[in-house]
Amino acid sequence: MTWNVVGHAWAIRALQRDLALGRPAHAYLFTGPAGIGKRTLALAFAQALNCTAPPAPGEACRACRACRQIAARAHPDLFVLLSEEPGKPIKVEAAREMMHILALSPLELHWRVALLADFDQATSSTANALLKTLEEPPASVILLLTAESAETLLPTIVSRCRVITLRTLPTPEVEAALIERWQVPPDRAKLLAHLSGGRLGWALREVEDEGASQTRRDTLDAWRSVFSATRAKRFEQVAHLTKDRDEEQALRRTLETWQSLTHDLLLAGIDPQAPLTNLDYADEIRALATHVSAARARRWLAALQRVERGIERNLNLRLALEAAVLEAPSL
Ligand SMILES: [Zn+2]
Repeated sequence: MTWNVVGHAWAIRALQRDLALGRPAHAYLFTGPAGIGKRTLALAFAQALNCTAPPAPGEACRACRACRQIAARAHPDLFVLLSEEPGKPIKVEAAREMMHILALSPLELHWRVALLADFDQATSSTANALLKTLEEPPASVILLLTAESAETLLPTIVSRCRVITLRTLPTPEVEAALIERWQVPPDRAKLLAHLSGGRLGWALREVEDEGASQTRRDTLDAWRSVFSATRAKRFEQVAHLTKDRDEEQALRRTLETWQSLTHDLLLAGIDPQAPLTNLDYADEIRALATHVSAARARRWLAALQRVERGIERNLNLRLALEAAVLEAPSL
């Protein structure tokens, strides 16, 4: 296999089958949780489509000009549309412009590939702009969409795409890839693989983010200090966490980590031998668990999950978090 992708073997096989038959679909939708490798796989597919020296049908050499240009996202027939900021929708004007170019371009020998990332964030006007192209796809154009799930997209879009659903990788596969391909020290690779829940892209972002371990330390400290804080102190912490409205992404990450820690706390409370996700804090979590009943841990976890759902529904975050921290166990 010459696709430069870790895991997702069945998805690669399915895409290679389409290539070998010479009949790729006009549009593909890659779905799966953030950091699972949707974009990586889509770009590898674009390479296989356009490679000028494939070692075998459906493969990519990764050395020819086309392969190198696609890897650098600099191929003249590769159009990539990302949102300008994580979590923000892609601009409708940019999508319209892209569809316009795709419709106008003269027919060439190779495929023109348009990647529209995080399409579940797209507004309905962007979706409509795309729909016209999907309904009458220009020859030699292949649209690649990514989204966390197909359910949030317009059914008229999904029905015109070949859906490739990606699943998380086994943790040992992430760990091995981190060590062998990215030279991550074994201890850190083991931890990141566990925390990633099988999402290699997520683990790689942590590897690249040098401040990540300090942020993690701060997040854990904040989570633990809630237990011993008075009601007023808990509200102070919420005010601190929500003070910056632009920091929604950071707050989401904090919530995700808090949920993961609380889930471990619940597990450790039920069974002290239970394998935990947060390996680097396993001892501290097990010690805490001896003071917290499983019922309280469960309530705290449910409260944090409600806050996360609230973010998606644009509820008042500060109020939601204030309600949640009152559900945290007290020590
Ligand atoms: Zn090539």
